[in-house]
Formats: sequence, structure tokens, C-alpha cells
Amino acid sequence: MTATWPPHIGKKLDYPEVAVGAILAGSARRFGDRVVFSHHGDELTYTQLWQRACQFANGLVSRGVKAGDRVALRMPNCLPFPVAYYGLLLAGATFVPVNPLMPEAAVAAQLEDAGAVLTVVASDVDEIRDGQPDTPPDVQIDIYRDLAHLAYTGGTTGRSKGVELPHRNVVVNTLQFACWQSGSVPALDSEGGVVLDQIGDPSEYRTRLGEGRAINLTPWFHAMGTIAGLNVLILTGMSVILHDRFDPAAYLADAEKFQVTSMGGAPALFAGLLACPDIATRDLSAVNSIGSGAAPMPYEMTVALQRIMPNAVIVEGYGLTEVTMGATSAPTFVSGLRKVGTVGVPVFDTEVKLVPVEGGDEPVPAGEPGEVCIRGPQVMAGYHNRPRETADVLVDGWLHTGDIGVLDEDGYLSIVDRKKDMLLYKGYNVYPRELEELLIAHPGVAMAAVVGRKDLEAGELPVAFVVPAKPDVTAEEVMADINDQVVPYKRLREVILTDQIPISAAGKILKRELRERLKS
Ligand code: AMP
Repeated sequence: MTATWPPHIGKKLDYPEVAVGAILAGSARRFGDRVVFSHHGDELTYTQLWQRACQFANGLVSRGVKAGDRVALRMPNCLPFPVAYYGLLLAGATFVPVNPLMPEAAVAAQLEDAGAVLTVVASDVDEIRDGQPDTPPDVQIDIYRDLAHLAYTGGTTGRSKGVELPHRNVVVNTLQFACWQSGSVPALDSEGGVVLDQIGDPSEYRTRLGEGRAINLTPWFHAMGTIAGLNVLILTGMSVILHDRFDPAAYLADAEKFQVTSMGGAPALFAGLLACPDIATRDLSAVNSIGSGAAPMPYEMTVALQRIMPNAVIVEGYGLTEVTMGATSAPTFVSGLRKVGTVGVPVFDTEVKLVPVEGGDEPVPAGEPGEVCIRGPQVMAGYHNRPRETADVLVDGWLHTGDIGVLDEDGYLSIVDRKKDMLLYKGYNVYPRELEELLIAHPGVAMAAVVGRKDLEAGELPVAFVVPAKPDVTAEEVMADINDQVVPYKRLREVILTDQIPISAAGKILKRELRERLKS
């Protein structure tokens, strides 16, 4: 038995032929004076966001930014972010997200690779839009070719590269998730903005369009942030409170105060909330949907959340930057079939097949593990300037994800392992290879290998095994030197000095053995 509701599950969606700016345009007309974002008491309505984004777009054009230019945003989640994001897209430029905590050298390499003509920080935004007209500039966008996002990820190899996502991908993936979650189909308003219409039985919806409230913590420099945490929220007319950092008590207080209807984020968010004693006393009865992604959600966590928020439908989604954001999700509807521990079924127009991990194209039977391959209109155009790496992962339109999954007889997917050498710290990807390259370059290190230590709160913690190059090397010194060079989530949590690192006959580090050593 598969999901029986809504009626459009398993069907094709009719995606309007528009650029990303049409998402905000439609919502601005429909939700006008509703507050879209509030941050420390400052508020922005849908209309204001649209007007400011238009001003920003005109500001960029007047500074010589042309269609196709790459514009980097280097700022945390804050009110200027969506102004600059939609503004640069309305100007025909390409969004290059930059993690604001990334060290200078890594930022410089990324900006150079992207060919960014401009890097915008939060304090620039008002200046760029100052005195500009609040209607969109007249620019031509080819939605199938012009890139909306050039988003950096380690992919399956760990080496940072830009994922090319045309406007079409961003609009499609936003609609795939917004329509999936809200039981709606897309349409265009009289001026070409995207709007949704809820269809079918209203008693099946969790929230009506324009009535939802949420707290945002998902970083907008990451796929889950820009699609689920920004475009989907805008399209469904949510009112969103921005938090700068994760303070579980403050989050729960706001969830009660604003009667938040949906919670979304990585499992680390929910682990933090569950560990906070306030969760037992706050009134969270308005929460009717909980969406988790970026990392596996433990079974016990689902059960604990369900006990505390019995009105909430809990769904897990799965995806990666290379599919814009998402490929699968459980149905969010009252009668939709959810299977705890799975990441649901493919969303609209998306196919998932599993192929043998050791290679080959013949799909493995239900119940057996295989590499997850995804095909659909949200799959990336390719990696920027990296034809070889693109050809390695994109075969006949199928994206080979490097994740290992199992499909059950109903088509529900579970992610069970990874073929790629990657670990997940609080939902953030950490590539051992990147840390190993830094370690090997350290004068005190002869050899090194990084593996994940399982951790209840964080998921996995990066731990390095190091063979010292000289007798006086200390674990503390190596750890501090490496951690100075990486963003906080990639930091080594432990360095273990050792005489030798186990190597296979083929010369590969036996990471499984090292993980066993960590357990004992
Ligand atoms: P990113 O490109 O940064 O979004 O990272 C994508 C990777 O995160 C995927 O290839 C998976 O390895 C992992 N991932 C995303 N969602 C899930 C999930 N629900 N369960 C397990 N792993 C996930």
C-alpha cells in the first residue's frame, strides 16, 4: 500500500515557466501585509520584501552587474539576506552562497572558482538599494540555462566544487516540496507570479496557505536553507521568526509565544530541543508538522517528539545539493502513509533507483542495499568547470549520490550507509579527506586518517588518528593548528596519537577498523 492522499501523489506537476523571482512576486501580491520575517523585533512584510528586493536588483544593475554575473552573499541569516537573494536573482545574476564562518583562504578560493564579480555582506544591502525604484528591472532570463544558484559542496569526493542550478531547478524543487507538503498545485497570477491552490479535501491539510508560522535556524547558504527554509516558506505564505543561533530555551519560548505551526531542521535541532527541560512545560499544541532532513533521524527521536507533540506529523526528507535540495519525502497529509526510519517516497516527477554498490546499472531488488541514483528535473546541470567529475556522477540523466539505501516493496527509501567518505556533524557534511590533507601538510604529522565517532547529540564527531613525525608532537597542538583552518562544524573533536594506521593491500586506509578502535 502506498500513500493514498493527496490525489496528485505519483502524478506530474505543471511547473510554470518562470524565473525564481516569480515566487516572491506571487506571494507579495497574495500575502501583502503579512509579516514574512521578524528578527529581534524588526519586521518585514511580504510587500516590503518584494519592494526592497526590486530596489536591490536595480542597485546592482546601476553598479554594472549584468545578467549571468556571479554575486556572492556572505552573511548569516538576517533580514537583508532575502532582500539580496531575491534582488540579485531579479537582476539576472547568479547566487553564490558563502558560509560566513568559512576562513578567508577558503572563501577566496571559492569566489575565484565561481568567478564572483561582487561579494555582498549584510551591511551593504541597504546602501545598494538606497533610492532605487521598487519595481523589477527589465532583464531577460533563460530559465533552463541561466544559473540561479552556484552552490558549493564536497559532493562524493570531498573536494569543494560548484553545483550549477538553473532557475528552472530552483522553481521546480521549491514547487515539488511546497505542493507535496501543502496539497496544492501551482498557477500563475495575472502578473506572472507563482501562486498555489490547495486541492482535494481541506481536512487533509496541516496548514492553510498564508496561515503558518515557523522559526528559522536552517542556514540560507545551504540547500536545505535556500529551498525548504526560504523559497518554500515564502511560496506557502509562512510568517517566520529568525534566530541567530541555536538556544533551545529561546526557541521553545518563541514556539509557544508565536504558536508556531511547523518546525524544520536537522536532527541536531530536535536533539537539542528534547534535551531542554522547557520542552515539557511549553505549550506546543499548535505544531502540526515537523520536517527533518540533512542527516538521519533516530527512531527514538521520532517517538519522543511524537509523544510531546501529538498533533504533529513528522516527516523526514532526503536530498543533496546536486538535486537542488530534495528528492524524497514522506507525505505530510493526514492520511498519507509514513514509515518511521524511512525518508519517504520520491516527490513529483522524481525517480529513484538503487544500483549495485560495486558498480553496474541493473537495479537491485527491493530489500537489498544499493547506491541511490536520482533522476528528475531538479538534478543539477553539472559541476562548474569540472566535466570529469560531472561525468563520474551524472550517467544518462541519473545522479549517482554516493549514498547507500534500501527500497521497500512500497517504494519507501531508507538511507543505510554511505559509499562516499563523509560524516555528518549536526547535519553538516564533513569530508575526512579535507581534514586529512590539512593534517598531512602539518610538519608534526607523518600520516593521518579521520573517521566519525558516533555521538547521540551531534550524530558523528570528527576524530583524527595521527602518526607523529617527531617525538615531541602533542595531540593538542595538532588539533589546534588544524582547527584554526576550518569552519567550526568541521573541527576535530579529538586527535589520537598512534604508532600506525591500518592499510589494506591495495593501499587504502581501513577506516572501518579505525571506527572499531573508537568503539572499544
Ligand atoms: P548536502 O549536499 O550538503 O545537502 O548533503 C547531502 C548529503 O547529506 C546526502 O548525500 C546524504 O549523505 C546526507 N543526507 C541528507 N539527508 C539525509 C537523511 N534524511 N538521512 C541521511 N542522510 C542524509
